[in-house]
Amino acid sequence: MEGNVKLECIQGDITRQDDLDAVVNAANAELRTGGGVAGAIHRAAGPKLEKACRPMAPIKPGEAVISPAFGLPNKKIIHCLGPVYNIDKPSDELLARCYQNALRLADEKKLASVGFPAISTGAFGYPLEEAAEVTADAIHSVLSDLANVMLIRMVLFSDSDLQVFRRAFRLGR
Ligand code: ADP
Repeated sequence: MEGNVKLECIQGDITRQDDLDAVVNAANAELRTGGGVAGAIHRAAGPKLEKACRPMAPIKPGEAVISPAFGLPNKKIIHCLGPVYNIDKPSDELLARCYQNALRLADEKKLASVGFPAISTGAFGYPLEEAAEVTADAIHSVLSDLANVMLIRMVLFSDSDLQVFRRAFRLGR
């Protein structure tokens, strides 16, 4: 617990977080399906998701937008465009902004629980340990602004990624 907000890091699949109000998509600028998280989310949500997202595209690195979740078990999907490491600069600020904007948007929409994948650490090439530090700092920096979000869950795909994030969040083993 950090104030009123519970922080968790777990190993899992972002499309299978049935108990969360919202999950975050590591989106592409066009808000289309793709590889990694975006592919998994669009496959699970179904084709209505691309259609709903079309009017909001393109988005910029650091930006967050929200859509219905369609076939996913959540109420909403928040789409964030992470920075391509060392191409979209400053990469650390842009990555931090993803988490901050997503959490502020969730809070504004009165969503109580939000799950994140490790944005930018796949196709966008952000080194995992650096990304974990930026992510932990970014999330801690907005906690005191949140009135509605009570649970923030980092969902890491592999156990080794989980260990790196647990350390960055000082959650021990
Ligand atoms: P980006 O383009 O922002 O780098 P990716 O989707 O390529 O996004 O990857 C982001 C991270 O999400 C990577 O660490 C990847 O291993 C992880 N990942 C991929 N699929 C899933 C999933 N279904 N659930 C959770 N994490 C996932």
